[in-house]
Amino acid sequence: MKKQYAVIGLGRFGSHLARALYEEENEVIGIDIREDKVEDLQNDLSQAFIADSTDEDSMKSLGLRNFDVVIVAIGDDMEASILTVVLLKELGVPYIVAKALSKRHGLVLTKIGADQVVFPERDMGLRLAQNLMHPNIIDQLRLSDDYSIEEIKVPSDLVGQTIQALDIRAKYQLNVIAIRHTDEEVSIAPGPDYSIKNGDLLVIIGKNKDLNELSQKLKE
Ligand code: ADP
Repeated sequence: MKKQYAVIGLGRFGSHLARALYEEENEVIGIDIREDKVEDLQNDLSQAFIADSTDEDSMKSLGLRNFDVVIVAIGDDMEASILTVVLLKELGVPYIVAKALSKRHGLVLTKIGADQVVFPERDMGLRLAQNLMHPNIIDQLRLSDDYSIEEIKVPSDLVGQTIQALDIRAKYQLNVIAIRHTDEEVSIAPGPDYSIKNGDLLVIIGKNKDLNELSQKLKE
């Protein structure tokens, strides 16, 4: 089901986020204190408003408590970011996501009731580092500190081999839960005699240390 989102702060992060949500046919309003930012996005969102998000009356009049998610994408002005989250909390917004620029900023946002705190620069930096070190890993979903699901690129010399022949389960204690093919089709729970095709991505679940070991091995 499509949702209703409000994005406060239409800087680099907020504007891309708001557009992406709107492109998937959600209802998205954007709010910024600067007229030029609002004008830039006027035609790309359901509606865009010039308003100061620390102003209680303006925020009340926008009916933000009726939105499923409100994202506070103000970064540089830490005071405004914190005051906005406090106000949204008071207004009864069901789910607040806030962007933090530093660890301390993030801690404060969590303490005052943000439901989710994101660190775009930190997260993108970590992701790029992983990506450079493990180029075979296309995407990673951390399930806990110990377990992840990873999409791993199969090197071309393994094309034609069966899943059984790879022996991933016995050698690395990992399980192939799906295969994503080049045409974006997905085979769920492939059998042991599935033979790997060019461009297949293996979706593998297991312990992080075992996944790292496999990724290193595939790089050799
Ligand atoms: P980014 O790195 O994503 O560009 P910035 O912190 O530079 O992040 O931009 C945040 C945006 O938030 C800016 O467009 C700024 O005008 C807007 N902003 C800052 N304070 C407020 C406020 N009190 N109310 C509404 N918008 C605000």
